[in-house]
Amino acid sequence: MSTLATELSEPIYEPPTLTLLDASAPVDFAYLQIESARLLRTCQYELALPYTLALLDSLKQLGNNNAYLSAFCQLMTIYEQAGIFPNYVESLSFAIEILGESAPAVEIAQTNLAIGRLYHLLEDFDQAQIYYAKSFEIQRHLLSDVLSPISYRYMAETYAAKDEMPEALESIGKSIHACNQVQNPLLIASSMNTFGDLLIVNNQMNGANRKFTLGLQAAQTAANPYERIRALIGLGIIHFKQNKVDLALSIWQQAYSLAARHHCHSLLAKVTRVLATTHKLQESYKVASEYFEIFIQEDKLLSLQSFATQLRNLESSQKIEIINRRNLQLRHEIQERMKSQAELEVLATTDPMTGLFNRRHFFTLTEHWCENATEIPLEISAMMIDIDHFKRINDEYGHPAGDEVLIKVAQAIQNALRTDDILCRYGGEEFSILLPNTNLMAAQQVAERVRQTVENMKIYYEDHVIQLTVSIGVADLLNSPKHSVMGLLGHADQALFKAKHKGRNCCAVFSSQNPSQD
Ligand code: GH3
Ligand code: MG
Ligand code: MG
Repeated sequence: MSTLATELSEPIYEPPTLTLLDASAPVDFAYLQIESARLLRTCQYELALPYTLALLDSLKQLGNNNAYLSAFCQLMTIYEQAGIFPNYVESLSFAIEILGESAPAVEIAQTNLAIGRLYHLLEDFDQAQIYYAKSFEIQRHLLSDVLSPISYRYMAETYAAKDEMPEALESIGKSIHACNQVQNPLLIASSMNTFGDLLIVNNQMNGANRKFTLGLQAAQTAANPYERIRALIGLGIIHFKQNKVDLALSIWQQAYSLAARHHCHSLLAKVTRVLATTHKLQESYKVASEYFEIFIQEDKLLSLQSFATQLRNLESSQKIEIINRRNLQLRHEIQERMKSQAELEVLATTDPMTGLFNRRHFFTLTEHWCENATEIPLEISAMMIDIDHFKRINDEYGHPAGDEVLIKVAQAIQNALRTDDILCRYGGEEFSILLPNTNLMAAQQVAERVRQTVENMKIYYEDHVIQLTVSIGVADLLNSPKHSVMGLLGHADQALFKAKHKGRNCCAVFSSQNPSQD
């Protein structure tokens, strides 16, 4: 085979040595772009890889999204052609991030395709098809068919991987048709080789032979080692199936040399495996075990499985992050809502000046207590408190002074009570208190304590010292009409009236037997 002879005379590429990727040096992205494109054009994929990775980093820093996506597609080509399995997941997640914000363009269609292909390489075929579908949608929208040859080929390979042969053959047919429109030898080589692979699976050896021969020619024209190796592996398989084992072995041997020379790891793994198993069949155990060793080495290098796991973890952690962010937002919203609800509730239940419960809320609480006070002897009492001659305080010191007095008195009364007692500003300079679990006698003692507390107060306002007193009426639920709230408060009010009548600064108890007595 004359083509094989020329393959072997090609120069051997040196492994990559890079000095420019010094983190402290400013990265010249234009240089990286030109250099990586040149290396890619000359099929020096392994050399192109570090340049492309550096290019991606610098484009990310520059925020040049379109150029980033182009470089990302370039990265995918390298992964595929060199048979290096993707080990740069950050670029994928960033590309997906950019895609979400981009308007439809050929680059976007191409990036979706590249992401789909990455998933294919990672053997997540369903996910691959999702991205192909996105790419096709954009291509249709753009009325562009420049990506058709490669799109249909990727589709065909994914269908084949899922054992959906009719769909695979239909897609590769479309790819070949699209190739004929663009006349790009590399695309033709790729599609022909894929067609050949599919026909082997379909047991159509003659057809496969024709495709691989065309594939080899096109790969030769394109000077692309990867497709050459693919065609050679395919041709070897056909010969093997036709019982021309020696011919098969010699072709695979050529493929092996090429793959080793060009660092095409995935193809190297593939060809060393067929070489090893075939030599074993031929009972050449020593040669077989040598190839097996290389195969195992290459296979390990690919470490496809571990990377697939890594990628999936990345994806799920990304999803988790999105969910977490949403949760945080929801929690914040709930807190805000609760806060404003609490604020509304405070507004609805509180007297803004003194901070005590307002009368409406006092009724609610009192009703609650009284309704639940089914235990005999209904030990609930109430008090009504009215500041004595309050009008005089306003008149003498002014209304603001009166306000200040109300606030201070409210505080003082609150401090004189137990925690269960419910104090409210009933209105103006009147306060009321509900005393749960308190009989009339105990309530009288509380009332007296409150009265004394107020009597002993000295309120400093500007340069005045204000002193005042209160009158208090006390009643209990047991003696109230129908044991009702209104009855209880009514009795307390009547007792207050009695206290005022008695001369103020005193407490009076409601008594039904003898209203004139306290
Ligand atoms: P008595 O001993 O009979 O209760 O005399 P009094 O002066 O307290 O009588 P009255 O109940 O007629 O007067 C209450 C006064 O309280 C009238 C009103 O101007 C004043 N007042 C009511 N609410 C407020 C308030 O929020 N701030 C101030 N500064 N004064 C108020
Ligand atoms: Mg009053
Ligand atoms: Mg008063």
